[in-house]
This record gives sequence, C-alpha cells and structure tokens, in this order.
Amino acid sequence: MKIPGITLSVCLLLFTPLAAQAELFNEDDLAIARDLRASALAGNGGFDVVEDLTTRIGPRMAGTEADARAVAWAQAMLEEAGFDRVWLEPVTFPTWYRDFERVAVVEPVEQAFEALALGFSPGTEPGGLVAEVVMFDDLDALEAASDDQVEGRIVFIRNRMERSRDGSSYGPAVRARSLGAQVAARKGAVGALIRSIGTSTNRFAHTGTMRFDTAQRSIPAAAISNPDADQLERLMGLGEPVRLHLEISAETIESYTSYNVLGEITGSESPEKIVALGAHLDSWDVGTGALDDGAGVAIITEAARQIMALDQRPRRSIHVILFAAEEIGLWGGRAWADAHKDNFENYQLGAESDFGAGPIYAISAKVADEAWPVIEAIQAELEPLGIELGRRTASGGPDFIPSAPFGLAVVDLHQDGTTYFDYHHTENDTLDKIDPKDLAQNAAAYAVLTWLAAQSPIDFGSGPGLIGR
Ligand SMILES: [Zn+2]
Repeated sequence: MKIPGITLSVCLLLFTPLAAQAELFNEDDLAIARDLRASALAGNGGFDVVEDLTTRIGPRMAGTEADARAVAWAQAMLEEAGFDRVWLEPVTFPTWYRDFERVAVVEPVEQAFEALALGFSPGTEPGGLVAEVVMFDDLDALEAASDDQVEGRIVFIRNRMERSRDGSSYGPAVRARSLGAQVAARKGAVGALIRSIGTSTNRFAHTGTMRFDTAQRSIPAAAISNPDADQLERLMGLGEPVRLHLEISAETIESYTSYNVLGEITGSESPEKIVALGAHLDSWDVGTGALDDGAGVAIITEAARQIMALDQRPRRSIHVILFAAEEIGLWGGRAWADAHKDNFENYQLGAESDFGAGPIYAISAKVADEAWPVIEAIQAELEPLGIELGRRTASGGPDFIPSAPFGLAVVDLHQDGTTYFDYHHTENDTLDKIDPKDLAQNAAAYAVLTWLAAQSPIDFGSGPGLIGR
C-alpha cells in the first residue's frame, strides 16, 4: 500500500466490478441477497422436506398409487410452506410396472446375477427364455453388427460409465440403455442386457428407462450390476458359448394421468413475470429417490421458503414446479412446455435441481446477450459459496429441455456429481446419502439466484431470440 501505483490498481480491481453491479441491482436488493445467503446456509437446506417425502411416500414411480399419494403430499406441503397459490396441472403419459426379473448364467457355469429390468421392457413368456449371449463394446458396435451375429441371441452391451464431476460421462453411456433393446430387436435378438449405467462397484443394478415407442418392436431388457458385468465379460473371454436365462414380468400401461404440482410466490410489481424453479416429484421404484430427486424438491422449496420469510415480496413472481413422470420420459416437462409455450416471454428463467445433493460449483446460463451482465452480477453474490462463472449456455435441467424449442432462458447451477451415479436409479438411493450441509449450500445458491432474478432490472430474453441458442 506504500506504492501509489499498486494502490491504484488494487482499487480498480476492487471497484470496477462493484460499480458495474451497482448499476444493475440496487443496494437493498444486494443486501437482501446476502441475508438470504447467510440465512439459507444456516438452515437445513430443506432436509425436513426430503426426509418427509422419502419416509411418508417412499418410492414413487410415475403412474403408481404412490405417485398419486406424492401429488397429494406435495400439494399439502407447498400449502403449508405458505405459497400464495398452489395448484395442479395434468400430465398424461404411458407408464410401466415392474413385477420381477431374473438373470442367470446357465452355461458354462451356473450363477444368478443382480439385475433390474429397464423401464418399458416387455415381459418374457412365463418361465423365461434361455439363449446364447453375444457381446458388443457399445451401441455403435451393435448397430454395425450383421443380423446373423445377433439373431436368436441375447445381446450384451458392455460399455462402462466412468465417474465425472459434471456428469458428462452419462450421456454417451446411456445410449446403450435408451436404444440398445430396439436396435437388438431389429436385428432379431430375443433379449438385451446392458452393464448398469452407473459408477457403483457394489453388487446391485441401476435401472432406468428405455425409449418408449409404440411403433418399434422391443424385447425383454435388463441392466446387470457392474461386478456381474465384469464376470460376464470374463466368462465370454473363456471362448466357450455362454448361455443365460432371462425372465422378466412387467407391464406397460398406455395411459395414466398424474399432475405437475405448482406453488407461486406472487410478485409485488410484475406478477405476470415468473422465475421458474423445477425439481421432479416422481422417482424410480427401487430406493426412495432421496437424491433423485427428493433433494431437488427440498432445495427449491427451501429457497422459496427463505424468500417467503422476507418482509417483502419479490417484484416478479416465483414458481416452484414439482414435475411429474420425469424418469420415464420427461412427461411433466413436456406438458409444462406445451401448456405455457405461448407465454414464454413472461418467464424470466427456468432452473431445475435434479443432480443429487452435491455442492454447487458453477453457474451457467442461456440468456440474451444484454442480460449476461446480470448473470455475472448474480455470480458475484454466489462466489462466497464457492460458485464460479460457467458457460454462456445451459439446459436448465431435464424438465426444461422440452422448453428449449420455444426459447426459454435457463440457468444451470452445476452440482458436484462425482458420486451421484454410484446411487442413481438403485436401491441405494436413500436419505442417508444426503449431507444437510451440502443441501444448505444448494438452497442458499438457489435463494440468491431466484431473488436476484426476480428483482433484475433486465429481462433475461425468453422467447424467439433464444430459439436455437
Ligand atoms: Zn432425476
């Protein structure tokens, strides 16, 4: 501080960003954002919400009796939390029920595998089927195979998902689950198995949905646990024929109606303009869906509760949307986009929490160019939570993907997902995997983002200008 030049440059560094922010947000709004951040960090992150959901309702597969109970639970929970308005919007979708699955090696040795049928898998005949296995490195290798290699066999796709902080290893790996059975069916296979799309080395399988397509024939399909997939690869490596027994009992239902559950904090100045927070209410039928996506339900509810505890209402409205039937095909997100697409100019931002309960480390956004400085100013208030500035593009989370063709502005608050896929879609997705401290960091980030987005002097540009971005 003794050399004037250094003092000057330090001052410039310190004051330039603050001056820029001051033009965007007034001091009162920033002070409230900081209070929200501190108060949410000191809170429970909504742990009470995910605890109650996973205990009282438990697994809540879309289209089951538990789904209907979850909708009633969510409506009551949002009403009790003090939202100004709570309502339901219908979502109609095909769904699927698991009865049981059995996968076992019968030749050259006998061994039962840990397996879970994939969503929309047809059942086998009672007693199942026995066939020789043909193994492929990945979906592309199966696509390239001749019908002769596949016909009458059980296809096994062995691609392995590796851990990654941002979850980017999921997309390439999950193609085998989404499409493997359809491709195998086209080539005459009698069954399809995949290595679980997950990173656990424990002996349980990761379920998940296949693409539902009434026009395409499918075949019975299941995921086997990673250790069993390793064992099957070694058995194949012996060079002798490997035969498996596969039996699945399951049923597809063409049409069921559930509901997106919505709560509104009504804006004080521009109530027709909306900041939309999302999470999905449904889960897989194994585990209690604590990470996927009870945590998201907790995080966005707690962010809204923090804002409702203020002395004033935000300028714009805030919606909490608990989406239906995400797991089996983003049906709640599709219905929401369809119901609101003519009104997207009024939606400030969409942001869904659906990546477990790990801490948030970055913010990315797809907004109009003139609104990017607002994202930078919001990031400055997230910095003390360890959140850096990410990319100038975002998806908004799975349930906002169907809104992309209509130009919804979206934000991603990226969670550390290094261990998320150890539990994803398994029996082991249970409440004990959630650290309340991380949940509180998430809720603090969503509270700051939501408050400042609702107070922003600039709209984020939803509408035709963001289509195709
Ligand atoms: Zn999810």
